[in-house]
Amino acid sequence: MARQKNSAGREDKCRREDEGKNNSGNGWFPTDPNNPQPAPSQQKHTDTVNLTTFSLARENDIDLFVSCDLSDTDKNLILTDVWVSSETYIFPIIEKNKGWNLKFQHHWLKMFKWLAHSEISQGGFCKVCLIFSRTGGFRCQKLYTLVIKPMDNFKKALETLNNHAKHQYHKLALEKADYFLNIASSKEPEIISKKVKENRENLIPIIDCILVCGRQEIALRGHRDFGALSFDGEPEMNEGNFRVILKYKAKEIEHLKNFLSSSYRSKYISPTIQNEIISSCGDIILKKVVKEVNESHYFSVLADETTDISVVEKLTICNNAIKR
Ligand SMILES: [Zn+2]
Repeated sequence: MARQKNSAGREDKCRREDEGKNNSGNGWFPTDPNNPQPAPSQQKHTDTVNLTTFSLARENDIDLFVSCDLSDTDKNLILTDVWVSSETYIFPIIEKNKGWNLKFQHHWLKMFKWLAHSEISQGGFCKVCLIFSRTGGFRCQKLYTLVIKPMDNFKKALETLNNHAKHQYHKLALEKADYFLNIASSKEPEIISKKVKENRENLIPIIDCILVCGRQEIALRGHRDFGALSFDGEPEMNEGNFRVILKYKAKEIEHLKNFLSSSYRSKYISPTIQNEIISSCGDIILKKVVKEVNESHYFSVLADETTDISVVEKLTICNNAIKR
């Protein structure tokens, strides 16, 4: 059976992935007469309420997103367009609350903006924790009520909701949700993509300088190779080949000179970054060598081992690949 999609085109893969295996008793799926037991993933919310009264699951019901791998489209949908009950919606009294004659209340949704009601599970979920919280509470215990399980026991509902609002993981999830919505708005992506583009344009000449040092087999570092680069006057000490070549290159590239002269903390010229770039270059070269060897018809390997000045064993491997 083809999987169903909501308005965002998302496959309801989590709550419905067992659709073809075991799909009885949940109202929105046709009953399978050959397999009358509900699927385990669906059984937990359906033992107290007869959902066959609902002909269709509400579109974008939050329960459909529980314990799913959420795409950015899903997250945006949950935060902005998840199904919300209308003012006139009558919440049913589910089995486990019949003793106290309690049901979900509209004013809870107004009190707690992060709360969403699910018609499928007849309980409440925290929208932000469902998306952004994976662990929480004491010793990062697994999350449960309001996150992976609906709040469907309403005896101490307000107490439960107020306590949830005080959790650190919930507050963090709220901040992440705000940040996510800012990113999802129209302006932020433009700012970020512009910043990413600028950083890449500045990083390319820095990598070029490291490649020049590598090709010429000259050391990158000097006696004073940390701190901001100064374009005024001559340095008091030898700054090292990398910084000298980079400064020389920056004289011709205005945006690079402005970037290196700026007060930004991240300029990608520290010895740590130099080593990371060298390591990345090594990975790319190794991949190319391995590819050549794999594509060759014949190859030989020559290895030699020696100890360097710091008493560390070094193994040099040379290969000779022949292509026809
Ligand atoms: Zn929460």
